[in-house]
Amino acid sequence: MNESMESRAIGIDLGGTNIKAAAVTGKGTIVAKIEWPTEADKGADHVIKRMQEMARTVVANAGWQWSDVCGLGIGLPGFLDHEAGVVEQLVNLHWRNVPILDIMKKDLGIPVYFDNDANAAAIGEAWVGGGQGFEHVVAVTIGTGIGGGIIIDGRIHRGANGMCGEIGHLVMYPQQGRRCNCGKIGCLETISSATAILQSAVEALAAGVPTRLAEIPIDQLTTKDVVDLAKSGDPLANEIIKRAMETLGFALSYIGNTLNPQRFVIGGGVSKAGAILFDLIQKGFEDAALSRVVEACKIVPATLGNDAGVIGAAKLAIF
Ligand SMILES: [Zn+2]
Repeated sequence: MNESMESRAIGIDLGGTNIKAAAVTGKGTIVAKIEWPTEADKGADHVIKRMQEMARTVVANAGWQWSDVCGLGIGLPGFLDHEAGVVEQLVNLHWRNVPILDIMKKDLGIPVYFDNDANAAAIGEAWVGGGQGFEHVVAVTIGTGIGGGIIIDGRIHRGANGMCGEIGHLVMYPQQGRRCNCGKIGCLETISSATAILQSAVEALAAGVPTRLAEIPIDQLTTKDVVDLAKSGDPLANEIIKRAMETLGFALSYIGNTLNPQRFVIGGGVSKAGAILFDLIQKGFEDAALSRVVEACKIVPATLGNDAGVIGAAKLAIF
């Protein structure tokens, strides 16, 4: 295949605060990348126009011709109707029933695809990130919540109505613990997300548990502080991180026994803490998963960072 025949696509990662757009080659390399504020308060029409302008800008920045581009993919934070090509709902952006694919195709004159942002990130990581080279990959992102994307036989699985991979809402301890945004009690993300780790620390401080976390003004306390103090041996911080990560590993045992993946790829800010977290996740996983499932599977860090979304979105347009 010569250079001119290699696929060239645009990937867009739409977030509530910022939009990222990248020009991505058929090998998964980013040639140009831009990030603009979403300006979500100006409405869906405005945001869509912005994405169109960003697509043209990033192609120009890459030094490509528009006619070289095989298509565009978008990752969006919400519920999508894949058959109709319609965004059903983006809660953070206050969108409802937006026929985004038709609007974008009409303006840009190229094929346009979409998926939810967790699936786009999973596709990126499975393509050229922590899951590269494997057909059965589960990507997990630990952030404000816990997101997931599931790739089986090299293909993303969306399920009956796009809910496949919502692992943050696996109820780990029914009717115990905090109420989740979804309405249930005891969801994984109320225990193991960055938000939950910070909340556990704040609650323990309020209860007067002795810890070096008390040396940090409570309104400045971050999840990273809890992780850092756990690394330096603070007993409370250690206990919070241990429970959060072993419970995540326990959740992975359910997914492992069900899907028998080759890789769990763990991303998000918390995953940057390294071995301390991965050892705990591995322990929770090994304690509960079948031994043959454990043997076939490695739990590894995501490698694409914030670029996973745009790379995976671009892959939607590359076949
Ligand atoms: Zn939930």
